[in-house]
This record gives sequence, C-alpha cells and structure tokens, in this order.
Amino acid sequence: MAYFEKLAEPLLGEKITVIDGKLKVPDCPIVPFIEGDGVGSDVWNASKRVFDAAVDKAYMGKKKIVWFEVYAGEKAKQHYDTFLPNDTLNAIKEYIVAIKGPLTTPVGKGIRSINVSLRQELDLYVCLRPIKYLEGVPSPVKNPSDVDIVIFRENSEDIYAGIEWEAGLEDAKKVISFLKDTMGVKESYFTENTGIGVKIVSKEGTKRLIKAAIEYALANDRKVVTIVHKGNIMKYTEGAFRNWAYEVAKEYEDYLFSMATYEQILKEKGYEEAEYALNEAKRKGKLLLNDVLTDAFLQHALIKPKEYSVIATLNLNGDYISDALAAQVGGIGLAPGANINYETCHAIFEATHGTAPKYAGLDKVNPSSMILSGVLMLEYIGWKEAASLIAAALNKAILKKHVTYDLCRLMDDATEVKCSEFANCIIENL
Ligand code: NAP
Repeated sequence: MAYFEKLAEPLLGEKITVIDGKLKVPDCPIVPFIEGDGVGSDVWNASKRVFDAAVDKAYMGKKKIVWFEVYAGEKAKQHYDTFLPNDTLNAIKEYIVAIKGPLTTPVGKGIRSINVSLRQELDLYVCLRPIKYLEGVPSPVKNPSDVDIVIFRENSEDIYAGIEWEAGLEDAKKVISFLKDTMGVKESYFTENTGIGVKIVSKEGTKRLIKAAIEYALANDRKVVTIVHKGNIMKYTEGAFRNWAYEVAKEYEDYLFSMATYEQILKEKGYEEAEYALNEAKRKGKLLLNDVLTDAFLQHALIKPKEYSVIATLNLNGDYISDALAAQVGGIGLAPGANINYETCHAIFEATHGTAPKYAGLDKVNPSSMILSGVLMLEYIGWKEAASLIAAALNKAILKKHVTYDLCRLMDDATEVKCSEFANCIIENL
C-alpha cells in the first residue's frame, strides 16, 4: 500500500475536494506537509504551532487541520532512497492543498530541482508572491509601505523548463550542429564548449497565467495589472507573452481597459481620444492592464512602487523580481509564496527562502516566510479569520521588537529570540 494511504487512514480528518472548480473544505481537512531540508524542521515546527493555535482560537475548536507528513528532499532520500517519491506527488494530488519547507538543489550538477519537479508534475502554473510591508520591519528603502505588489510568476515554462545540454557533450554538439546547419545560426555564436538552454513560452501557458492575475485583481479590488517582460529583445518569447496577454484582455472588456486598446485609439483617433477613453475607464472603476519592460520595472519598483499592484511575468523575471521586491520589505525571511493551478485548484504553499544550511538545527532563523505562506494557505481554503489573526499577531510581535537574528541585527533596541520563541510570541499575541 502506498505510504500516504497507510498513513492517512488513521488520521481523523477528511479530504479537501474540488466541486465545479471550487474548493470544498471540511472542518478537519487533511493537509500534507513537507518539512524541508536544512532549517526546514526549525521553521516548520514553529509554524505548525502557530497555525494550530490560530485555527483553534478563530473557530473555538470547531475546525482543525489534520497535518500529514509527506516526504521530499533529504528526508525522502533517507527513508525511501529517492528525493521525490511518487507517493508524495500522489498524496498532494489527492489532498489538493499542501505546504512545504525549503529543499536543497545543488548548483550546476546533481539532481534536478525538486521544487521545479513538484511544480511541473502538478502543473502548478502560477507562482504567487504577495509582497507587502509589515509595520516595524527594518527596510533599506525610505517608504517601504509604498510596496504592496502581488506577483504572478509563470511557473512552468521559460528557460526554467530545464531543457538544456551541457557544454562539450554529444547532445550539446548535436543541437549546435542543428542550429548551424539547419537553422542557419552564425558559427561565431558557438565554441567547442558552449552549453545550450532553450527558452519556451506558449500562448496557452501565457493566457492561463494572465487570466489568473486578472481574476485575482478583480476579486481583490486591485486597479492595475502590469505585464512585465523583455519583449523588445526576446520578441518571439517575451514579446509574444505581452501580445498574448493583451489578447486575454478582450475576454474581460466589461471590467478592464487595456493599454493595447489605448494604443489602437491613439493610432486611429489621436491622443485626446485615447486619453478620454483611459480616463472614462478609470472613472468607471475598470481594471487597467498595462505593460513595462523588466529593466524599467526594476527601477520603478524602487522609485515609484505605488504605481504597481498586480504584476504578471515570465518565470525567470519573476524569480529575480520576487526576491528584489522582498528585500524592500524586509528580506526573504519574511516573504510568503504559493504555487497554484487555478484550474485543478492544486496548491503548494511554501517558504520562499532556501535551506540556509549553516543555521540548520540551531533554532535561529526567522519562521515568518513559512508562517505567512500558511496565512496565504488559510485564505486560499477560506479560513480568513484564522489567517487575519496570525497576520496581526505576527506584526504585533515585530512591533514589540521580539524578533529573530535577521531582523534584530537591523533594529535598535530589539530583543533577539529563537525561531521557536518567535512562534511563542506570535501565539501569545493571537
Ligand atoms: P538561502 O538558503 O535562502 O540562504 C541565504 C541567506 O538568506 C542565509 O544565509 C540567510 O542570510 C538568509 N536566510 C535564509 N532563510 C532565512 C530565514 N528563514 N530567516 C532569516 N534569514 C534567512 O539561500 P542559498 O544559500 O542560496 O540556498 C541554500 C539552498 O537552498 C540551496 O540548495 C538552494 O537551492 C536551496 N533553495 C531552496 C528554495 C526552496 O526550496 N524554495 C529556495 C531557494 C533556495 P544571512 O547569512 O545573512 O544570515
């Protein structure tokens, strides 16, 4: 029997199900968790206590999450001799919503990223990263509270799909020959030791991401969705991403005004008409869909972050942008994340930092990224009361300056607490 069946049977909970594309969440849902490598067990143990205490307090014992450990990473290798057992994938498929800690990925050699495999196997095409300032958190910028941006990063395509060939090996040479001989690519691009990676971007992949971003913006009363791309350079991938994104806008005409429409009016009727259409759309409270080049966005995010609310971008851009924006509001120790397929409703919520191996087992690091990812998860399953309790209590703990080392070193008169003690502070503040 598969390990998830063996283990799940005695758990006194029920499965989350999906009916007509919507989650149906029982009072005692079974939620699989992956503890993660390195600091994973420290942050998970701290976070789980916070989740349980908040749910208990919010629903006075009427609701409870039944946690179900599934394995990936080093713990899976130890127990099952593989970094990502099929049972783990099956368990997450079965139970729909899961949460995970960080997993090790060696650079330049060894196993493929388990994170990428999980996203691909479950087709979790959106990487959702809300970046919002929490009062009291030290920040390197003057007005960190201006940053309130939700990132929709495409999670299954782009140069991250893992289609690549190592320099000097036969496969890379074959691809290079094809590029030179069949496709007419200039000889001078290649040496004997050129590695090759392929960037893939599809209309289907783009459209489902943009749809998710627009629907999120409409549901959460956000006024702008911005497509972030380098379409001026990579015309058939990032440029196509921009064009396909604007095509999606046509499906939402009643609620949305797109800058592609603005440009069309500008061309056909001139500046005044285009401005009039834009202002009318704003007056009617319509959502605006616009676009910006990635390099410009990275400047604007520092200079005028208030202009951005929801951004939709490709995989690699999204990876860089997420961490750069997170740094403005206190660093990756605080940034939550989720990987979601809005069509099947499968979702894995995750701490966005890595395994920080030097701190593993020291009960030292900040568990906030995992805790705030849990807040996202509670919101996703509709347990908003518990989510709000945690968010408020975490902020109180920071305002009282009882913080882990990462924040303590940046704050005056703060008291350094351990990872587990920070969880205690949050629980006391619930
Ligand atoms: P990292 O583990 O995130 O650590 C880099 C630095 O970030 C740490 O040394 C620490 O800074 C700070 N940091 C990380 N987590 C923190 C926390 N919870 N609280 C406070 N500070 C924290 O990044 P890495 O060293 O580049 O990667 C290590 C491993 O993690 C690699 O195998 C990588 O592939 C993997 N990784 C996994 C994920 C994931 O599973 N989602 C994401 C990223 C990386 P200071 O040294 O300044 O204290």
